[in-house]
Formats: sequence, structure tokens, C-alpha cells
Amino acid sequence: MLKDKISKSVIILSFSIFIFFVILNADNAFAKKLKVMTTSTDLKSITEYIGGDKVEVESIAKGYANPHHVDPKPSFMVKLGKADLFIRIGLDLELWAQLLIDGARNPRIRFGTPGHVITAVGVDLQGMAVHGEAMIDRSLGDVHIYGNPHFWLDPLNGKIMAQNILEGLKTNSPENARYFENNKRLFDSEIDTRLAKWLKRIKPYSGTKVIAYHRSWPNFSKRFGINVVDYVEPKPGIAPSPAHIAALIKRMKSEDIRVLIREPCYETKIPKFISTKTGASVLTLPVSVEGVSEVKDYFELFDYIIENLVSTFEKQEIASHD
Ligand SMILES: [Zn+2]
Repeated sequence: MLKDKISKSVIILSFSIFIFFVILNADNAFAKKLKVMTTSTDLKSITEYIGGDKVEVESIAKGYANPHHVDPKPSFMVKLGKADLFIRIGLDLELWAQLLIDGARNPRIRFGTPGHVITAVGVDLQGMAVHGEAMIDRSLGDVHIYGNPHFWLDPLNGKIMAQNILEGLKTNSPENARYFENNKRLFDSEIDTRLAKWLKRIKPYSGTKVIAYHRSWPNFSKRFGINVVDYVEPKPGIAPSPAHIAALIKRMKSEDIRVLIREPCYETKIPKFISTKTGASVLTLPVSVEGVSEVKDYFELFDYIIENLVSTFEKQEIASHD
């Protein structure tokens, strides 16, 4: 009898210890979620896709704000201080980030460490500065001197960025490598499927000339065949003079350019003025996830841009090639 009682107690005790460790491990698994800070909402969206439930991601810049100019708030330094991973675009898009990194005093995410991921690596860059011209341009306020940093607006570059993110996640959480790799395969396949649809939708308008406010579009226009021929800004980050606006209006009239794309972070007064003089539509297009409320992830960004371009071309009765 006593023997039975003892063995029963041993079983109950063993079971209790087992349950205790299960709970402890579940806690550990939760605690092991990688804390990721990204500079942009697009990077956040891609990181969430690849990282799934193994990551907690926050973006520093808002999707509707100017990515070149972000207020380096001390609250971001506190968050970066606790981060396992810092993911950025690179080039000279985030000149504001160095202050935050310095202030964070977190050796895990400093430049050159595995916790500091630059997603521009391997990307086909557009608008490279001519050698020797760079310093002159910077002194005039140009913000694209290492090549155009808005390359995420080509979905195929999104796959390269996702690859860089994948490498960063794997290095910092090798136990989840296969999970991340599987998500990356799904991401690439989703991009390929949707890209075919986007290209089909916009193809009839291939070669259509438009004006944009900022030079956000070279990678987009190369992929989708839309011809951005001039800009409200004479150079990236530089406000237009009255002479530049007058020249733009003249060109739009003579070349029958009927659409002006405005990124949400830029003012509306000059685009509206140009519109009244030319009859062109001013189309506000997000250049990042959450740039408008309808765009909640990286795929919806292109859904929105393509649909709104096509509907504006239709409204302006721009001839399609179909
Ligand atoms: Zn820019």
C-alpha cells in the first residue's frame, strides 16, 4: 500500500515538474521574440512577413511623413536601446538615424554589427551621382547623392530587401532559421503572383508621361513603364522657384502631360496652382505603407498606386494601348 502511495506521489510530482518546465519554456519562447526597430513602415511590413510571430517590430518614421526628415526623438533612443535588430534602407535616406543610434548606446545595433541591417545591399540603384559631383550637390541640399534611395517602389527590389532582412533575422535568431526561410519563400511567391497582375493592369498606359513632386519614382517607373519626365522640386529636397514652376507649366502644356503625382508629405499649394494652369489632375500617391489609411502592408502599397494611377489616367481620358 505504502509503496503504491509513494509511486503515486512520485508520478504527481514528476508531472508537476514537467508542467512547470513547459510553462517556463513557453515563457522563454515568448521572451525570445526579437525586438526589431525599422526606419520605415515598408521595412516593418516586410520584416513582419518574414519574422512572423518570432518578432516584434516598430517603425521610427510614419508612412505619410518625409523619410528624409525625421525628428530624432529621445523616445526612439530608449526603444533602440532595447532593440536586438535595427533595419534601415541605407544610402543617405536616414541621415537622421545616426543621432538615434549614438543616443541609444546599444552595441548590438551599431553600424557594422549583425544587428544593423542595411537593405540596400544588392539592389539595382537608379540615379547614381556622377563621380565628383556629390559634394557640390550636398552643399545645395540634394538628398540623393549616393543613388536614389526610394528603391522599395520596385516590388522586385522588395525581394532583395527581404533577403537582407532574412539574413539579419537568421543571424540573430538561428534557431528560427527554417521558419524565416519558409516565410521568405512565401513572400517571394506572393510578390511574383501580384506583380504579374499589377503589370497587366498598367501595361496599356506604358510610356504615359507624368510629373512628380519628388524623385521618388525611378525604380517604380523602370518596373511599370510610367514615364516621370519632370519634378516640382528642381533637385531632391529643394523647393521650386517661380521660374521653375513656370517652365514646368509650359512643358506640361506643350507635351500634353495630364497627371501630377504628389507624395503625401509635400504641400498642396503649388500642385494645385499647376493644376489650375494646365488642367492636370493632382494625384496623391503614398510612397510607403500607411502613407494613406487604406495601405496596410507592402503588397497593398502597389495595389493602391497601380489602381489610382489607372483610374486617374482613365479620368483624364489618356489613351490606352489596348
Ligand atoms: Zn528622396
